[in-house]
Amino acid sequence: MIVGVHPLAGFDKLLHYRVPDTMRDGVRVGSLVRVPIMHTLHLGIVGEIGAPKDFPVDRLKTVTQLVHPFPALTADLLGLARWMAGYYACGLDSIIETMIPAAVRRGAGLKQEKSLAVAQPLTAEELTALEKRAPQQARLYRLLAQQFRPQKKSLVLSRLGITAAVVAALVKRGAVREETARIERIAYADDHSTGELVAAQPHVLNSEQATAVSALAATIAQGKFNVTLLHGVTGSGKTEVYLRAIDAVLRAGGGVVFLVPEVALTPQTVARLRSRLEAIAPGHRCVVWHSHLSEGERLDGWLALATGEARVVVGARSAIFAPVQNLGLIVVDEEHEPAYKQDETPRYHGRDVAVMRAKLAGAVALLGSATPSLESYANAQAGKYSLLELKQRVDARQLPHIDIVDLRIEAAKQRALPSLSGKLVRAMQDRFEKREQTILFINRRGYSSSMQCTKCGHVEECRHCSIAMTYHRTDETLRCHLCGDQRAAPVRCPQCAAPEIRWKGLGTQRVEEAVKRVLPRAHVERMDTDTMSKKNRFREVLAQFRAGKIDVLVGTQMIGKGLDFPNVTLVGLVDADISMHVPDFRANERTFQLLVQVAGRAGRGDRAGEVIVQTFTPQAEAIQFSRHADYAGFAAAEMKIRRDFHYPPTRHLIHHLFRGPNPEKLKFFAEQWAKLVEKTLGARVDLRGPSPSPIEKIKDEYRWQLWYFTNAVTKVVPELAKLRADFAWPDDITQVIDVDPMSLS
Ligand code: ADP
Ligand code: ZN
Repeated sequence: MIVGVHPLAGFDKLLHYRVPDTMRDGVRVGSLVRVPIMHTLHLGIVGEIGAPKDFPVDRLKTVTQLVHPFPALTADLLGLARWMAGYYACGLDSIIETMIPAAVRRGAGLKQEKSLAVAQPLTAEELTALEKRAPQQARLYRLLAQQFRPQKKSLVLSRLGITAAVVAALVKRGAVREETARIERIAYADDHSTGELVAAQPHVLNSEQATAVSALAATIAQGKFNVTLLHGVTGSGKTEVYLRAIDAVLRAGGGVVFLVPEVALTPQTVARLRSRLEAIAPGHRCVVWHSHLSEGERLDGWLALATGEARVVVGARSAIFAPVQNLGLIVVDEEHEPAYKQDETPRYHGRDVAVMRAKLAGAVALLGSATPSLESYANAQAGKYSLLELKQRVDARQLPHIDIVDLRIEAAKQRALPSLSGKLVRAMQDRFEKREQTILFINRRGYSSSMQCTKCGHVEECRHCSIAMTYHRTDETLRCHLCGDQRAAPVRCPQCAAPEIRWKGLGTQRVEEAVKRVLPRAHVERMDTDTMSKKNRFREVLAQFRAGKIDVLVGTQMIGKGLDFPNVTLVGLVDADISMHVPDFRANERTFQLLVQVAGRAGRGDRAGEVIVQTFTPQAEAIQFSRHADYAGFAAAEMKIRRDFHYPPTRHLIHHLFRGPNPEKLKFFAEQWAKLVEKTLGARVDLRGPSPSPIEKIKDEYRWQLWYFTNAVTKVVPELAKLRADFAWPDDITQVIDVDPMSLS
């Protein structure tokens, strides 16, 4: 038996090896093996069985080891890796390494650990007697008797604060058994601390949901590739639709990948999924997947999926590579979220990869959003995707009323620029008195955006990056949000020494301070990446908020996504302009999405919600269409602009970034390269640039960029990759190709 192997050795080539008879039964396409290259052993993935015709097989080396008895990549994942290598211009080996966790590549198996379980149940009398005589033993017995599965011994001891002697006594008595077993370290497995409301029982579907569910059931029953866009307004009950689709796939024996944009949101989704799955198939497990897992957790989850023991994975972007067997459905919740795009190599988009994986696996991709990306919406309108719509909130709840506050008028009234308008302040006070809750969004962490001298106009910039530094009030520092550099905030202007240096623009800290001033008795919490750096802090604050212990929550859009708090009746967007006036063709789309999503957090309980949006540009389209949550109107207006300027989704964009310490040299090589591309690719690409990047310098490195507009990514990218490999780049210039970039800096 001969196999072709993709080695994980820093180059892309299929090498052939002989398989020894002892491994014959185990080796399949997708198997992880160790093979000799020159004189060292490397890992590799079996890419094909057999060899090309007339291949000189007699001098072949032999596969040294089969790392796992089951394939590390399913056939669809291997196909996906090949497609990604071509589409995103990166090495196949780096993608395979992204797909297979490090511990799996090392060949690690499940950890063996000591565990405890009830061996012989005690009678009620025996337990009462034990309670009197040895209360610690009784507590241990009770704990174990409540569990379905054996519990990890070390964990039980530390939780009850007891010694091994207590265990030994119960074991001796025969009531408890101690064994060494595979213990799974599945994340959140025994986590009931989040205080989330869990909808264990399925809801009775409303008529729109029922229509969507039956359409999906029919699609799933066909067992073919399909992409469905579920466009449902905020609070329309999309999750229930996802759950019914998952239910249908599981009953048919298929597997499911469920993607959510933010790790922080996973507990809520997982809790809901878990309880429902357990109702469908008792003992069913749902594997959690995201970048903060411990290595052990990741390994266990991966093995459970690869062996077919678990069939559902829920997680962030990288969960799209989980080895789910017999894949039937991929759900991409909040499909418009930029968080699905990875901003380091491989620079893939989780949603697009999900669609491709579904295609390769013959599965259904279900993309859901209240504000679909224009890319997905255009595909639905062109008939490439099926479209399902939920136009009403569940229980006929009203979409919240959106009030626009014109900050130009407000600023004239109050002389200084206020962070909170009179209207917003009165509304917050009203909610506080009624014991209802408020969320305030401000899309910038820190105290203010920058420090500017009102006398000479000087703005403090980072010494290593060409952007303004952000003022952080809590420790009186200026910080660079790009490189993290920080220094004490000056009291006088560093340029003209005038004491008139002031903040400019708003940040979360300044808004928090303003709220505390107008509502001194309220409990105010701030939630942004600065306060949430501790691992479980995010979940703690959310649990407190849900329990009604926090009156006003101030945060960046990290709190704007997918959260469902029935007692929130007021949402304020403090500065809608932050996301709008940036040099990015998606700025309008982002602002519209932000407004609709943020507004969607209000009025999810029985009471109607109110939304107050503060802006200096109330006439902007993104703001006007969002007032009536008019997605179709917005999409039509925005698509016209995209067509006029040939922006996505009309064509694809490819970003090419050049970085280096010497700006002249950078310019020279970027221009030489652009000439070469123009000559070689001709009309297949449309070039813009090269030119300095919007942020010209980061961490002392200069940046130039070049844009390619094209209709044919799959043709153009491989050509660019080949040209790039043959081009004589100097050592001190790094360059990065980003296909379908989500950020234009
Ligand atoms: P979306 O994701 O569309 O914004 P969710 O899925 O979060 O909305 O649902 C909003 C709320 O409505 C949730 O609390 C959910 O439990 C509830 N819900 C969903 N479907 C129904 C239904 N058919 N009847 C009653 N409540 C429902
Ligand atoms: Zn910096």
